[in-house]
Amino acid sequence: MTVTVETTGAFEIPKPLNELSESEIVRKAHIGRVSTEVLRYLTDALTGRGFTWLLPVIFSKSTDPLWPDPGASIEKRVETEIYGETVRTTLSMIIHKLVASSTAYPRFFVLSPNVRIEKRERKATGWHTYEFTQLDFEIRGAGSKDVKRLFEAVIAGLIRHAKKQARRDLTYLGRYGSLKAPVTPFKAHDREDLMAKYGAEWETRLPQEIREPVWVTNIPREFYDFEDPATGRWDNYDLFVPKYGEVLSGARREWEYGRITAKMERDGVKKESYTLLLRMAKEGKLKPSAGAGIGVERLTAWLAGAKHIGEVQAFPKVPGVVYDL
Ligand code: AMP
Ligand code: MG
Repeated sequence: MTVTVETTGAFEIPKPLNELSESEIVRKAHIGRVSTEVLRYLTDALTGRGFTWLLPVIFSKSTDPLWPDPGASIEKRVETEIYGETVRTTLSMIIHKLVASSTAYPRFFVLSPNVRIEKRERKATGWHTYEFTQLDFEIRGAGSKDVKRLFEAVIAGLIRHAKKQARRDLTYLGRYGSLKAPVTPFKAHDREDLMAKYGAEWETRLPQEIREPVWVTNIPREFYDFEDPATGRWDNYDLFVPKYGEVLSGARREWEYGRITAKMERDGVKKESYTLLLRMAKEGKLKPSAGAGIGVERLTAWLAGAKHIGEVQAFPKVPGVVYDL
């Protein structure tokens, strides 16, 4: 299939490998090497800090509801039947993370393919694909501060590593000079303050204003993020980077049966899709934890200065554009 390259604002729709010119192949190869260093550094940083590395799943009866999340925009949920059971492709491994961190894997990560059939107009954001990979991790007994401090160190370390190990590639891509290891701890903004400053468009305005990565906290969303019943505040955190926007979402988690079911009822989330999780919560087998998921392609796109997040993918999965491979 041949697709005409369209320019959408600052972004360009990425072409498939077979349609790239000689110079575009060189650029693609440089981005591939930046991506390799990102994966190498992140997996080393986490295994070196005692994390167990799990392999991902594709089909499950339970997956992330992605609801209510102001950032979610799903055109279609992929469901199929196997062995007489209805299963869904992974939207995220959050449910698996809650169960895994409560049982055999108190501190783990997984490189997890997520299939999210984003609305086709998201092609133009330059920031969405319909298949992507999360480096998803969870830590039993951790709090928000633990995760934030850990990831600040990891991001700063990653930039130092990439500048050393992918110097030629970042120089070719014009990112070597502009990419600076950020000062830690990162600044944090409450989402309510951002709403007051920028209005409902805060998620697109903030990345245009910042020069360093910043945390945004207190974002109302899915049932599994911890919401303080006394204050109504959400103990969650997203990491935003300059120009590109949100690269990581995380939270301290809910673990109590009464809290989880009350939130599911409030939000209209079907309890029958979460039977195992609810049974474990009811039996007191879910443990408090905190974690996050980082979009590997988005993180790489920011480091490499990609024109579109799909440029980081060998086989681009741009919303609304279905290539042969
Ligand atoms: P979420 O659970 O939606 O917060 O997703 C976790 C992380 O995955 C986000 O912070 C992004 O870095 C990445 N991500 C989410 N949706 C997409 C998408 N459609 N395309 C690429 N990356 C995504
Ligand atoms: Mg998010």
